[in-house]
Amino acid sequence: MTRIGVLTGDGIGPEIVPAAIAVAQAAAHAEGIGVEWVELPFGRTAIDSHDNPVPDETLCALDDLDVWVMGPHDSASYPMPHAERTPGAVIRTRYELFANLRPARAFGGVRATARDIDVLIVRENTEGLYADRNMFAGSGEFMPTPDVALSVGVITRQASERIARVAFEAARERSSHVTVVHKANVLRLTTGLFRDVCLQVAADFPDVVVDEQHVDAMAAHLVRRPSDFDVIVAENLFGDILSDLAGELAGSLGLAASVNCSDTKVMAQATHGAAPDIAGRGLANPVAMILSTAMAMRRHGVASSDGGLVAVAGRMEAAVADTLAQSMATADLGGTATTREFTEAVVERI
Ligand code: ATP
Ligand code: MG
Repeated sequence: MTRIGVLTGDGIGPEIVPAAIAVAQAAAHAEGIGVEWVELPFGRTAIDSHDNPVPDETLCALDDLDVWVMGPHDSASYPMPHAERTPGAVIRTRYELFANLRPARAFGGVRATARDIDVLIVRENTEGLYADRNMFAGSGEFMPTPDVALSVGVITRQASERIARVAFEAARERSSHVTVVHKANVLRLTTGLFRDVCLQVAADFPDVVVDEQHVDAMAAHLVRRPSDFDVIVAENLFGDILSDLAGELAGSLGLAASVNCSDTKVMAQATHGAAPDIAGRGLANPVAMILSTAMAMRRHGVASSDGGLVAVAGRMEAAVADTLAQSMATADLGGTATTREFTEAVVERI
């Protein structure tokens, strides 16, 4: 019996997380696989009940789990001191979830700017220009005077090497092509080290084609000729921006799945946020959360040689693709389906 943690979160979390679990549960049932869902306090409701958005009880439970689903959090709206550090950062740091995998693929039935996009963005998740652990403590930013603000970018050989390995291994399961993104003509030392280490790792994967792009050119090429790219590996900030671009090119951020992982743990987390503007109205698109959950189950299934879990993930993905192909869609995609109607249609297909 696979145990999977459930952190429902804020905003549209209480709508899309149960939707993802319902779809996963239906697929598990269809495959004859037993899954135990372990609900854990998290987010605003945990501030009310435990005075902490990520209570110790939750962290102790996650210590013993290999896979969990994390809904969005609206931490900017938390009362101090809870707003200081996002719940996602607390969890990512504790478990060193160093790789953020963000696929973008256009689905049939969805109006996409780039019909033929099918890329996997592999984003380094612990350092770069989003470094929040360095000599200046806090956010990696500081102000030496009230009129000057500085930001510190951190790139290490070790973190670059491990993310590069994830990218090249992922490419072997796809079209065997990795594009290394950097800005080594300007950020010579930091992104230059990132590029050099990625190209060194490439030597261990002679079967994978490797090339490189400056991040600005990468953005332009992704719009002009998306089908020329397969796996794109980038440091934290560049990967964040490129994955929003790729997600929208593929149709909508509401479709953009992602997982955060280490070598042993995997966390499903949709690319989008808590969407407080539409929360509680039944309008949210559950697809990103459903596909993130499927991705996490597939990754854990592969890591633990559990073919049943991989089959469950495949069933979930096929049912979502089928439902979208029938032009059933939530409001963000121009449709009229509610979160519940869309989810029921997916469960029906399963
Ligand atoms: P964060 O800082 O947490 O990433 P954000 O400022 O990027 O948050 P989101 O919460 O991702 O903002 O929302 C951006 C816009 O996209 C909002 O208008 C929101 O309603 C919409 N949106 C986000 N997710 C969904 C979804 N699943 N379904 C429909 N609309 C969504
Ligand atoms: Mg965002």
